[in-house]
Amino acid sequence: MSRSSAPPVRLLGGGDAVLAFDIGGTHIKSTAVDRDGRIDAVRRTPTPRGAEAVVATIAELARAHGGRDGFALRLRSVGVGVPGLVDESSGVVRYASNLGWQDVPLRQLLEDELGLPVAVRHDVRAAALAESRIGAAYGHASAVVVAIGTGVCGALVIDGVPYSGGGYAGEIGHAVADPAGERCPCGAVGCLETIASASSIVRRYAAASGHPVRGAREVLDAAQRGDRLAAAVWADAVTALAQGIARLVAAFAPHAIVVGGGLAQAGEALIGPLRSQLDQLLSFHRRPFVLSARCGEDAGVVGAAITARDHLRVLRAVADDPR
Ligand SMILES: [Zn+2]
Repeated sequence: MSRSSAPPVRLLGGGDAVLAFDIGGTHIKSTAVDRDGRIDAVRRTPTPRGAEAVVATIAELARAHGGRDGFALRLRSVGVGVPGLVDESSGVVRYASNLGWQDVPLRQLLEDELGLPVAVRHDVRAAALAESRIGAAYGHASAVVVAIGTGVCGALVIDGVPYSGGGYAGEIGHAVADPAGERCPCGAVGCLETIASASSIVRRYAAASGHPVRGAREVLDAAQRGDRLAAAVWADAVTALAQGIARLVAAFAPHAIVVGGGLAQAGEALIGPLRSQLDQLLSFHRRPFVLSARCGEDAGVVGAAITARDHLRVLRAVADDPR
């Protein structure tokens, strides 16, 4: 069980003490937040196979976080981020390919195990919530957070609330970017993800050059050294992203676009060209701020903690006014 440092962002502020989990394909990240909003060190625990084993691991972690002296006393609720198709209103994970889950009633399982109210949220929407409340989009009334890693996923946050569309919202990686492009594992042709995900940049460069590379960063480095194939693959990715974001801007007029995920570690080498291409694609539209994510790799678990606090506010509002 290793630990990574707490994210370099503002504290969450006073409120309920909560537990937070971010279930990934390889690791479960966990933390606790106390009533002053202090975020405990984030733990990383290997994800076991199967929902039952994950629930048991979370129960163990809950005891570990809750038992720390002077921290996280009187835990009130639990927030959980999870990948896949997540119905947040029922807390059911409809489908999560990298966990091998189908129709897992995660909220119910965890509430039975932990005896606390539990709120479940899609992991990218949880990360987007963190960026909106305490990260790059803080102070902006609306934002689209685009996470670029092995896939491309988006989340629209309006007035501090992520829009989930019954679990179906945000799949911008599976919107068409090139109708004559490659077939995507999802079944459609030319999805944005087949051009602009970090994995696709690696795959496309290896196919074009015959040189396998370990990561998208290597492709960027090669492009900056003057490798024309690398530059073309990188430019295709940036153009497809800019076009996809331009459509979102036209449709939703978000105040900010926040770019996160592994590829965002390229920093200004990604954000700079993306910002200028987006600017060229827009006409009368309101220009959004184009920003790098700030909450780092712990955004999902911090967003899960915010989700846990928000959930309590909703439960209390319902209790006060049961109509
Ligand atoms: Zn697709």
